[in-house]
Amino acid sequence: MPFNCQRFKNKLYRRTNFIKCVFCKKSLARNEATVEHVIPKSKGGLDRYENYHISCEPCNGERGNMDYDEFKSLKQKEIARKK
Ligand SMILES: [Zn+2]
Repeated sequence: MPFNCQRFKNKLYRRTNFIKCVFCKKSLARNEATVEHVIPKSKGGLDRYENYHISCEPCNGERGNMDYDEFKSLKQKEIARKK
């Protein structure tokens, strides 16, 4: 894989003191954060900084091949229900 996940994470951590999962908004420790594509490579997403975001392991797995927006709104509804 040409893309360096660790470097990407470090870059994000420099920008902010903590990182949240884009989907469930959980605060993540460095070792909990996973880097994933906004647009999956299978759908034409590029190996570019702009096409990466941080999510937690469970969300990453749960999302599967779902569209970013689709899964995000699904998660947000889930969070709203829990409140
Ligand atoms: Zn999450």
